[in-house]
Amino acid sequence: MTEKSKVALQQINPSDAVPWKFCRRRVWLDKQSTSDELLHISELNQLIVELGLQHEQRILEQLASSKQVVEAQSVEHTQTLMGEKTEVIYQGQLLSPDESILGMPDFLVLTPKGEYQPVDAKLSLDGQKEEIKVQLGVYRQLLQTELPGVVILGNGDQVEIGDEARASSNKFIEDMGILLQSTEMPDVRYSHSRCKSCPYYSHCRPIFERKGDLSMVYGIQGRAADGLEANGVSNIKTLAEMSASQLPDVPYLKKKEKKARAILQAQSYLSGEAIQCQAIRLPEGTWCHFDIEDNPLTGTGGKHVYLWGFLLPPYSKENYEAVWTDSEEKDEEGWLAFLALIERYRQAYPDLILAHYSNHERATIKHYAERYAMTENDTVCYLLDENGPLFDLQKPILDNLVLPLLGYGLKDICKHKELVNFQWDDDDSGSEWSIVLFNRFLSEGDPETKRNMKKSILQYNQDDVVATRRLEEWLRQTFKMESI
Ligand code: SF4
Repeated sequence: MTEKSKVALQQINPSDAVPWKFCRRRVWLDKQSTSDELLHISELNQLIVELGLQHEQRILEQLASSKQVVEAQSVEHTQTLMGEKTEVIYQGQLLSPDESILGMPDFLVLTPKGEYQPVDAKLSLDGQKEEIKVQLGVYRQLLQTELPGVVILGNGDQVEIGDEARASSNKFIEDMGILLQSTEMPDVRYSHSRCKSCPYYSHCRPIFERKGDLSMVYGIQGRAADGLEANGVSNIKTLAEMSASQLPDVPYLKKKEKKARAILQAQSYLSGEAIQCQAIRLPEGTWCHFDIEDNPLTGTGGKHVYLWGFLLPPYSKENYEAVWTDSEEKDEEGWLAFLALIERYRQAYPDLILAHYSNHERATIKHYAERYAMTENDTVCYLLDENGPLFDLQKPILDNLVLPLLGYGLKDICKHKELVNFQWDDDDSGSEWSIVLFNRFLSEGDPETKRNMKKSILQYNQDDVVATRRLEEWLRQTFKMESI
């Protein structure tokens, strides 16, 4: 490690607000000298960084077309440029008087009154995120300005951040000061949705497992785990040996049913066994399996569903059918083709059941109906009717089964060797993977490479719908069923 980077480790950077907001341990690990060995930056994060840089470059070009722009090389150079009243300072470096905070706003823009205003380019479409407010708030403090900071969002909208961010940025600075002085890794709770996508997952998971941390039990959030521990329920084993009436009321764990479920979940975690609470009720009809892939990184604020995929009877891989659109410009075309396909299935199978996993598909159809002012459309009404064909396969699982899992995602259940044991053709594929690949597809110029990328994404979506079919079969074969 160079001397310069040693010094840098002691400093707070406003950009630390992103990992800090995500998890205090993550920002602490980021600041450690060993973090490079631990860290595996996901391809999605790399893509987001790339798209963020492209967004920043576009703004840089716009500013440079009408103003004098100079890139700062150091703290001293920034001060010189400010003294010279340079119109726009790109990547200016601002150091606090005690040198504990180093901020680098994307742009420092000179106002007509001769003051500098911090301006940041953010790919996000929500300028009110706490991490964004913290960053702009710290830049304002470093500049000692009353002017609001400006955020240029991914869709070009501008948001101003003023004094309302002061409390958040003070809290961030105070907490980062504590974290940087600590030689002990911060104690935090497990969160499946957060940890699963974190680059430190393989580092942290064994630590939670060794401890038998209560937050690894599905349904027990951090505050509930804190409350249980304060009442002597110190780990998963202790929880598994209790009854619902013995458990104290703690935040997010007050209802008797929820407590009983948490205990069963702890027992299932330890034994590796699935527990059935009630008979599973699956609807009768002709089942078709349905899954969509969407791109949230459109830059316009709306998601683009580029793939609507189906598996039809008799459910071999050849019975896979999909609507694909190459770009966001063809979004409406894809939506209408999807509705046309639904009409075809409706005619072919009057007792159609469209099985999907989680509420995402239903919510997306609703969203698209609103986007294209088609909420009264007959096919849309048919789809969204509460007695309509859509059936969320996750619901009967959550309602009736307790599985030895940390989360109840489709892949959590299907990939588990002792449960469904269905393996995707490409082991690395997943929803983040498909977003990355689709964005690479969009920017790829070579037709052959593009074709191969599309083929890989279709293969992945096909595996997803085959997985929901295997899941349905596994449920029917393994558990007590009740028809509806
Ligand atoms: S894996 Fe979880 S606990 Fe560990 S740093 Fe990441 S988010 Fe924090």
